[in-house]
Amino acid sequence: MTDSNCLFCKLIAGEIPSGKVYEDEYVYAFRDINPQAPVHILVVPKEHIACAAEINGENSLHVAKCFEAIAKIAEAEGLDKGYRVVNNCGDDGGQTVMHLHFHIIGGTKLSERII
Ligand code: AMP
Ligand code: ZN
Repeated sequence: MTDSNCLFCKLIAGEIPSGKVYEDEYVYAFRDINPQAPVHILVVPKEHIACAAEINGENSLHVAKCFEAIAKIAEAEGLDKGYRVVNNCGDDGGQTVMHLHFHIIGGTKLSERII
């Protein structure tokens, strides 16, 4: 299912250009337009799931596929010393695009602080 008003659905469909780094049947991944670290990639399910609060037993396969892709992408990007995976959920979590996405952040030694 896609949402025709959703920025990331448009990006997945190729209606908006993106710096694609990975794609499979379930997952699309691209470079963040405003990178916060040397490597900053967004990994999204092709299925439109609005946010982490909407993950359930019916759609969790799409989330699992995102994490399989994250491991592959991190290896391809040379993040052998580690990286951070971030999900912002809802207003208080700072989510600005309402299509579930996981930030892969790395390529440098990150702060141990979460916030
Ligand atoms: P969040 O704040 O977790 O919802 O993250 C949304 C992310 O999407 C931000 O890091 C933005 O920089 C990024 N973003 C917004 N529009 C685009 C775009 N067209 N291409 C790539 N990244 C984008
Ligand atoms: Zn969407």
